[in-house]
Amino acid sequence: MRLRATAERNTLPMPLPVVIHWFRRDLRLTDNPALHAAAAAAVQVVPVYALSSWRGQHGWTGPIRQQFLCGSLASLAANLQAMGSRLLVRTGSADEVLEKLVVETGAQAIFFNRDYDPYGRAMEKKIQSLCDRLGIECRSFQDRVMHEPDQILTGDGNPYRVYTPYSRNWLAQEKAQPLPTVKSLGPAAAENIASEALPTLNHWGLPAAPEGVPEAGERAARARMKQLIESDILFGYKEKRDLPEGVTTSHLGADLRFGLIGIRELIARCEKTAVGATETQRTSVQTYIKELAWREFYLAILWHFPEVFEHEFNPDWRGMSWPGSQEDFAAWCQGRTGFPIVDAGIRQLLATGFMHNRVRMIVAMFLTKDLHCDWRWGESFFMQHLVDGENASNNGGWQWSAGTGADAAPYFRIQNPWTQTKRYDPEGRYIKTWVPELKNTAASALLEAPKDGRPIASGYPLPMVEHSAERDRTMALFAQHKASRR
Ligand SMILES: Cc1cc2nc3c(=O)[nH]c(=O)nc-3n(C[C@H](O)[C@H](O)[C@H](O)COP(=O)(O)OP(=O)(O)OC[C@H]3O[C@@H](n4cnc5c(N)ncnc54)[C@H](O)[C@@H]3O)c2cc1C
Repeated sequence: MRLRATAERNTLPMPLPVVIHWFRRDLRLTDNPALHAAAAAAVQVVPVYALSSWRGQHGWTGPIRQQFLCGSLASLAANLQAMGSRLLVRTGSADEVLEKLVVETGAQAIFFNRDYDPYGRAMEKKIQSLCDRLGIECRSFQDRVMHEPDQILTGDGNPYRVYTPYSRNWLAQEKAQPLPTVKSLGPAAAENIASEALPTLNHWGLPAAPEGVPEAGERAARARMKQLIESDILFGYKEKRDLPEGVTTSHLGADLRFGLIGIRELIARCEKTAVGATETQRTSVQTYIKELAWREFYLAILWHFPEVFEHEFNPDWRGMSWPGSQEDFAAWCQGRTGFPIVDAGIRQLLATGFMHNRVRMIVAMFLTKDLHCDWRWGESFFMQHLVDGENASNNGGWQWSAGTGADAAPYFRIQNPWTQTKRYDPEGRYIKTWVPELKNTAASALLEAPKDGRPIASGYPLPMVEHSAERDRTMALFAQHKASRR
């Protein structure tokens, strides 16, 4: 992989007296392009975070991810305070928050890192208009991705619709190097520039999050990145990443989601670790980096095709019927389907906000292909519970699993939950960790549907469906839809 210096180091010729850094999904001081540039451009940088103002239930987030956000903001505020600055927190739409702050501080510019989902982009347009109207500078930077959606295109300039050629192109591009930690933002905003208290879940009227939510903040994220690199997770990734029990993957999804680590630093550190490693270890590092390309692939899909939020990506399957019932969906949401691997995954999610990738695929295929529920129901449920919930990756993962997505994966690839268990959790260790009713059940009983019609453990439900019958039904539903379009 070729490496290059970060492109957007451009500083203004004369330091400006005051600029604003608008923190978004970049809640860190290290390898932060917009913050780094703001620090170089101004005598005083006023850092601000705009808090959302909804209350109660939300279809796309919940206590786990909001708790992680609160912890990350608290850590950021402490780090800023340690360098003599002060994080301002204000509730409201970012354009309104920023307009007031420009007036109060007399700032001459707003700096921020770019976002790629439709909501983020719409807000960026408003901020640009605001800056134009106020006659100040609007400076946006590439940060969240190594390569922006319009940088990785096919030979004829079109977006990729399939991952493998996209990833080949992505891997071949030069990689930007990380930026150093920002050490000073100048003096803190004056006392009369008000800030709200750091948020807690009460801000959104949300109930407490479960105890298993990972520690938030830049320091905790850096510790996870160190663990990835210094333990055997990275070198063992290729071999073990599909095994759901234990820590076989990096668990950096939420850190990337909230920008607690920079993508440049993560990739540079992986690359450095590969130097001098064995062939097998180097392949493992490459496998890991390729997974990071999946994240950018789905961000690019959402950027080029924002309609995927509403519709099946593959036009062939738009408007198809998903006749699954709300009752079946409710059993799936509680982890009470009678399929141990599915129930273990959902219960891991509810308890910790995390679910292993292999299991995400199994539970998502089960919901769509065994229970025939609309993938959008599962997509929203995941967003309410995942600590790493990310619109683009989640939508991509759900559409991939449902067979409607941006992938070569055909709709008739339907994973059998029992076979998947045999392959990836043959001793039932993952299942037993998350489904206490099955702690004393023989592993062999977790690998296939009970043949005697009796539950495999007291208090544990019978399988709610028969997999092969539902598989046939899925094939019929897809076939019917295809026929109806002729
Ligand atoms: C139905 C479904 C829903 C998903 N929802 C999300 C989501 O909301 N947010 C999210 O970040 N990932 C999502 N994924 C992708 C993947 O499951 C997670 O990124 C991964 O499990 C996070 O754990 P990790 O950090 O230990 O992953 P690792 O295996 O260590 O991978 C490292 C990083 O690469 C990226 N990555 C890995 N695999 C994928 C993938 N298939 N698609 C996109 N990015 C990937 C993530 O940023 C991840 O943190 C989903 C997958 C499926 C099948």
